[in-house]
Amino acid sequence: MHRVQVTEIAGVMTLGPQATRHLHVLRLQPGERVQVFDGRGGQGEAVLLDLLPGEGRATLELQPDALGTVRGAETPQPVTLAVALLKGDKLADVVRAATELGAASIQLLLTQHAEAREIGAQKLQRLRRIASEAARQSERSVTPGVLEPVKLGAYQWNGTLLVAHPGSSTLLTDLLTWDAPLTVLSGPEGGLSGAEMQDLLAQGAKAVTLGPRILRAETAPLAMLGAIAATGY
Ligand code: SAM
Repeated sequence: MHRVQVTEIAGVMTLGPQATRHLHVLRLQPGERVQVFDGRGGQGEAVLLDLLPGEGRATLELQPDALGTVRGAETPQPVTLAVALLKGDKLADVVRAATELGAASIQLLLTQHAEAREIGAQKLQRLRRIASEAARQSERSVTPGVLEPVKLGAYQWNGTLLVAHPGSSTLLTDLLTWDAPLTVLSGPEGGLSGAEMQDLLAQGAKAVTLGPRILRAETAPLAMLGAIAATGY
């Protein structure tokens, strides 16, 4: 069944231009059923009442019999990906794949050795759209928020923080206990500075290895999330 994101699960739901266009491209007809999800864990089934691509609007009616059929697509505790700003369009691929791999939110970080120093409002909006589309495609009930960059020195995480550090010999999977929210963090093209690493460790973060090879800054975050996904979550 096709899936579409709505702003809120309600008896009658009106879709905006983007979701309407999506249903139009799929040639969905009034009377057909679709899965709806709100990106915050709410999910159900709805019948398409009308589809008006010219007006950029469609209406759906919730089917109460299929409410609460949330699939177990989420991790036992929320996993945040904290990732340094990266050059060019690399974050688009990171956000797309991180969403497929189960990240519950994506925190952008400003770090000392990052080559990218800022991100514009339009680019941030685009990353959010990419996360929403990837959540729909991967049948997630949660769309990860892509959060405005914060300075690494001021970053406050919740629960356990695992930092990808080439100098570590600790395996990420050995520290995966699911007893608290988890954040996995990886650095920019130039790596994290010694001072940044020391600060994180002093605040209780744990350094983990991703193997004996140096991964690119856009590969490392996905290797962390992939290692978690490969445990079955
Ligand atoms: N020369 C830099 C260094 O030594 O940190 C390389 C940076 S690497 C291109 C970008 C980020 O990916 C690093 O900051 C780290 O977080 C992560 N990373 C890359 N390879 C890794 C590995 N084998 N183990 C753990 N983390 C790795």
